[in-house]
Amino acid sequence: MNQKVRRRLLEAGLTGPEMDLGIDAHDRADGRESYSEFEWLRGAYMLRTLRGVPILGEEAQLAVDREGVERLNALHTRLLTHAGRMDAWHVPSIQEWLVQSGVPGQMAYQHTGYLINRAPMERNKPVPLPADIRASIPQLPLREYDHFIVCFSGGKDSLAMLLWLLQELRKEGIPWDRVELWHHLVDGAPGSVSVMDWRSTEGYVRQVAGSLGLPAYFSWREGGFIREMNRQEEATAPVTFESPEGTVTVGGLGPAGTRGKFPQVSADLSVRWCSPYLKIMVAGMALTNSPRFRGKKVALLTGERRQESSARARYADCEPHRSDGNVRTAHQIRPILDWPERDVWGIIRSWGFIPHPAYWVGFGRCSCQTCIFLGDSEWALLRKLDPDRVDMLSELERGTGLTIHRTQSIPERAGRSSPEILPHTRTLARIACNPYTLPVRVNPSGWVLPPGAYRDTPGPT
Ligand code: SF4
Repeated sequence: MNQKVRRRLLEAGLTGPEMDLGIDAHDRADGRESYSEFEWLRGAYMLRTLRGVPILGEEAQLAVDREGVERLNALHTRLLTHAGRMDAWHVPSIQEWLVQSGVPGQMAYQHTGYLINRAPMERNKPVPLPADIRASIPQLPLREYDHFIVCFSGGKDSLAMLLWLLQELRKEGIPWDRVELWHHLVDGAPGSVSVMDWRSTEGYVRQVAGSLGLPAYFSWREGGFIREMNRQEEATAPVTFESPEGTVTVGGLGPAGTRGKFPQVSADLSVRWCSPYLKIMVAGMALTNSPRFRGKKVALLTGERRQESSARARYADCEPHRSDGNVRTAHQIRPILDWPERDVWGIIRSWGFIPHPAYWVGFGRCSCQTCIFLGDSEWALLRKLDPDRVDMLSELERGTGLTIHRTQSIPERAGRSSPEILPHTRTLARIACNPYTLPVRVNPSGWVLPPGAYRDTPGPT
């Protein structure tokens, strides 16, 4: 045993399995003493930084400078692979995005390293099961469902749910051609002015579906959020949905009514009108007005998790969907209701999917970019990264004479926080705030956890 190696690893604060890893890296360096020295030093450095411990210091930096980051990073991968630590964060899925977005290679590499070194630490947020969970109905065996409709927002939870479903189907030998993705556009038809949705979401959803060979059908209420909010003595607009047979428009014949205000920040959907009018009812109308589901058994899967809120903690695993009845069997299934966030990232990583750009900007949720639930720090971050969008929402507040928050305007709320803008964040924000055309998959060994992971971003409850 090389006592010098052991002593220096100890000095670096590495003990137990980490010590073994460092020694192993040293031993496996093919006797090239000068190289091995740098290799294990870099390994020690990486192991420490991954755990949020301050860096080893000048020695590690020196090693990086002399040997070059690329060669030394190979050790990191080897260390982790050898130790079965593929759950640590590797180099450089996001690097590809940065390069494709015009960031010079070396700078993209530095940004990637920065992200890795600041990878969020997993936080365990156990949720005690409430006593008043809604009653579930028995779910059918997967084989018995004719259609699997995956409600796919583009966020991490719906992506994890989709991947879980595909894994289960593969295990049981059920063909994936029963699966389709549904996404509801809150701002209305594709190409509408973006008020609420992330501009990247539509393209991201299409890319994910395409990469898996699955169809993605979009649906929306005509005129989207703005038309519904500005409704004055008129009916709620019709719903349009895509289907294999083409685009269908239904509804729009309800009673006249006036809205004229933002949805309220509440778990009560009668005042938080955006969720029911722009998502839940849209899905229901698409389902009930599609002849292809008549006489069939349909599973509609949604990705809520109990950990997200006390309201979601009460949800049932499986319940009849509002379109269930004599015409069709329709079950709403929540397969990842009990999953902790760690499992969500775990399955995404194992498939090598790059999470939605919102997570790279630092948001812990994807949903609407300008969700009514956003907190002060998110408004402040958006004001720096997408000022035009924030101005648009502020103008809407002035126009309606009512603020989203009960007492404070968006500029007042954004002024209460001064977010840190990381070096790479503006580039990633450009990706998040524009139509998405980049790849969505990487080799899982090159997967990186985004800064928004494990972050408590307020969102629908
Ligand atoms: S994400 Fe927020 S703003 Fe968008 S529909 Fe849901 S609650 Fe409303």
